[in-house]
Amino acid sequence: MTSSAVPGDVLAPFRRDAGRALMLGHVHPDADVLGTLLALGLALEGRSWSVTYGGPHPAPEILHFLPGIERYTVLEKIDGPFDVAVLTDCPNPDRTEGLIDGARKAAATIVNVDHHPDNRRYGDVTWIDPSAAATGEMVYDLLRALGVPLTPAIATNLFTAVHTDTGSFRYSNVTPRTFAIAGELVAAGADPAFVSGHLYERRGPDSLRWLGEALARVQVSDDGRLAWLALPAGLVPETFVEGEELVNYPRSVGSVRVACLFRERDGRVKVSLRGKGDVDVNRIAARFGGGGHANAAGCTVPGPLDRATRDVLGAARAAIDATATAGR
Ligand code: 5GP
Ligand code: MN
Repeated sequence: MTSSAVPGDVLAPFRRDAGRALMLGHVHPDADVLGTLLALGLALEGRSWSVTYGGPHPAPEILHFLPGIERYTVLEKIDGPFDVAVLTDCPNPDRTEGLIDGARKAAATIVNVDHHPDNRRYGDVTWIDPSAAATGEMVYDLLRALGVPLTPAIATNLFTAVHTDTGSFRYSNVTPRTFAIAGELVAAGADPAFVSGHLYERRGPDSLRWLGEALARVQVSDDGRLAWLALPAGLVPETFVEGEELVNYPRSVGSVRVACLFRERDGRVKVSLRGKGDVDVNRIAARFGGGGHANAAGCTVPGPLDRATRDVLGAARAAIDATATAGR
């Protein structure tokens, strides 16, 4: 398989032997950011680099199976110097909770690799490919272009990144390349059953009861086009919510065009938005200072939960109505 063209200025910082790299994650890191930072970092370590991994928040428990994850720590500040600081899957440098400022001072070059269309292009070197289903596809190409051997640990990280960002190869972002890359990663030692097992088959004994409590709160609008789930703080444990893509349940209703999950915590409400190709949910999220992709986006808004829910649902209804009008 030929890999897609990786810009030369993205490859250049990694061509040297034995440098120092910072792999910097964003808030509430998911498998795409963690898998890509670990894959690239482990590849550099294989070439005698010294690598620091971390970000503003810890890796969620559900991803503790990623090879090398124990190296990823919560960073209060950045201790350099570094030759390169790498941010993956991070469209907005503010999503590092200020760590980007320390990284800019500590690192000679900031590398920004991402597939979000709204990426702010904040790196000294920036590579954005919105056609990639996951940043994991891009880092796969990067490692291939560098001629780095894909170890099973690297392959597992990248496979998990692609697996999760595509909803287990189900979403509209999946392309023939996605399967080709996944195939190469499995050939290199990623084990699909191991990854799926950790992601979906390790619920605790109480989880199904919590799932029941959460799903009992799913609501669908009278016209069937909008469905949502609002979770008050403390209803179910946070670690449980982190391990479940709860927004997929309201999304799974056939008539639904936009699905929303509202999670209240610390007086704020984290919103996940999902679409099915006709309504651009990224634009809804952007109205509340968030972002993402056309079919998957998010934002964090002030509480209380009922007001946040009302405001975002109002914007979602307006977006659905505008799309329906445009389509007539
Ligand atoms: P999730 O709903 O799974 O947290 O996020 C889905 C998508 O929306 C991801 O691509 C993520 O980057 C984006 N996203 C989620 N929350 C926020 C946010 O608060 N701000 C921005 N800019 N993007 C977000
Ligand atoms: Mn991603």
